[in-house]
Amino acid sequence: MKSFSFRQFRQQFPILENLVNAKPLIYFDNAATTQKPICVINSHSQYYQTANANVHRSSHALSAKATSVFEQARTKVKNFINAESEKEIIWTKGSTESINLIAQSWGRSTLKAGDEILLSYSEHHANIVPWQIVAQQTGAKIKVLPLTTTGQIDLSVLEQVISERTKIVCFAHISNVLGRINPVSEIIKIAKKYQVKTLVDGAQAIAHLTIDVDKIDCDFYVFSAHKMYGPTGVGVLYGKQELLESMPPYQAGGEMIKSVSFEQTTYNEIPHKFEAGTPNIAGIAAMGATINFIEKQGGEAIHEYESHLKQYCYQQLLSVQGLKFIVDGEPDIPVFSFTIEGQHNHDVASALDSVGIAVRSGHHCAMPLMQYLNISGCIRLSLSAYNSIEEIDFTVKQLKSLNLTAANVTDIVTVSSKEIKDLDTLTDSFPSVNDIVALFSKSKSWDSKHREIMMLGKKLPRLPVQEKNGNTLIAGCESHAWLVCSKNTNGVFRFSGDSEAKIIRGLITIVLAAVNNKTAAQIAAFDMENYFSELGLLQHLSPSRGNGLRAIVNKIHNAIKL
Ligand code: PLP
Repeated sequence: MKSFSFRQFRQQFPILENLVNAKPLIYFDNAATTQKPICVINSHSQYYQTANANVHRSSHALSAKATSVFEQARTKVKNFINAESEKEIIWTKGSTESINLIAQSWGRSTLKAGDEILLSYSEHHANIVPWQIVAQQTGAKIKVLPLTTTGQIDLSVLEQVISERTKIVCFAHISNVLGRINPVSEIIKIAKKYQVKTLVDGAQAIAHLTIDVDKIDCDFYVFSAHKMYGPTGVGVLYGKQELLESMPPYQAGGEMIKSVSFEQTTYNEIPHKFEAGTPNIAGIAAMGATINFIEKQGGEAIHEYESHLKQYCYQQLLSVQGLKFIVDGEPDIPVFSFTIEGQHNHDVASALDSVGIAVRSGHHCAMPLMQYLNISGCIRLSLSAYNSIEEIDFTVKQLKSLNLTAANVTDIVTVSSKEIKDLDTLTDSFPSVNDIVALFSKSKSWDSKHREIMMLGKKLPRLPVQEKNGNTLIAGCESHAWLVCSKNTNGVFRFSGDSEAKIIRGLITIVLAAVNNKTAAQIAAFDMENYFSELGLLQHLSPSRGNGLRAIVNKIHNAIKL
């Protein structure tokens, strides 16, 4: 095995030198996408500078060069996952498109009413929704496999549920939330007994394990380049040759045909049969560079360092008071999902972001898993081989200081339904736009602005339970949020709001400062975007929180029209 030099590895990722919110970036959102080494970034621009042409079609030297780079990358992928032939490697734009291809080509042409598709509760939406669509189209049914307490697919239930009606089992090699390796070979062995096809979603596994599709012996294996230090917009569908040959095309157009006439069109051989249109050639060239990069560093050496990080991080997280992992035990890869007692997951993520730590909070594109585990969401730290022990220590320290704040929160005021109706009792204590602008002009850094938002959120009186319903819910907010509107006989509006997340309550306070005690005409005339930019909000809030802010404003604008 090659030796792993952490410093030398990390130095190759220029983005890690950046400051975020004026703090050194700690990037712990690698399960969403990994950062890219300089050789991959350069390969992209080098392709455009030296080899750009369309592939397979033109009869000139540059096209031959582009085609050669493109097909060499296919060969690299074939060797990387130990497939038998290049014909088994189809380029797509990501795992999602690969799964849609299988569902619409294999699924739609094979499944019949009453057939069964087996999924598990831990699947990413990308491995659920394409199957729901094909189930609606064909009359097939979806059955869902439960998980063990440590988060793997429960094999004992698989044995009971699988039958001759089952046509395919689709499951993640590793869940993007649980970080657990599913018992792939056992699942495939059972599926084979019933001649059931198998699709393994390798979106997470590809960066953390050595993948050998020959050994795994699945029918389909899918993954995305961007999760393994490669470019976005490039994905792979591996399928067994015979199976791919038997499947109809997914999309139609150039490249996927042998001949076209209005009387009859014949299709190209695999893999081209599934590659209609001009592909992401520069991205695919960069995928070739990605594989070169991993092989040069040594895949196993990378995985071993990650394993060391994982064990350390797990032990450190265990010491955070109130932290609860969403399944039992240490994960198999450095993906940690948890909740913290007394803290909303979005508040934890935004507090970490304010000191430069990028993590993900919410449902992680796995809403059925959240329902299965009976949680509304969680925080996820996902690490890569360019992360360090020091970054873990700093993050754990931040989590510990959050936890202390949570223990001190005792001063929660709830406004009553009667008070909501009674405008005068509520008018006094609420901050004005001038108060908010003054508060923010004192706070220069995002860190301190963030603290002010959280303080505003802490002070916002909570709504009573009966006011939190479908009518008052703010559509488009990532965490649950509600807005209650009342108008007095002079046409003056008063709004009250609430959210599970303190950060959203703070943002609600900022918006309400601009609209409360005003008429519809005054509210409509207020320049909200200018107000947000004066506060320096939009450039710092994540896209989902920025959308949440706009959702609050939309709800107010709709309310004043009624
Ligand atoms: N499957 C899993 C397990 C994932 O983690 C992801 C992305 O997070 C996907 C599928 C979808 O991948 P992509 O967005 O690259 O198509």
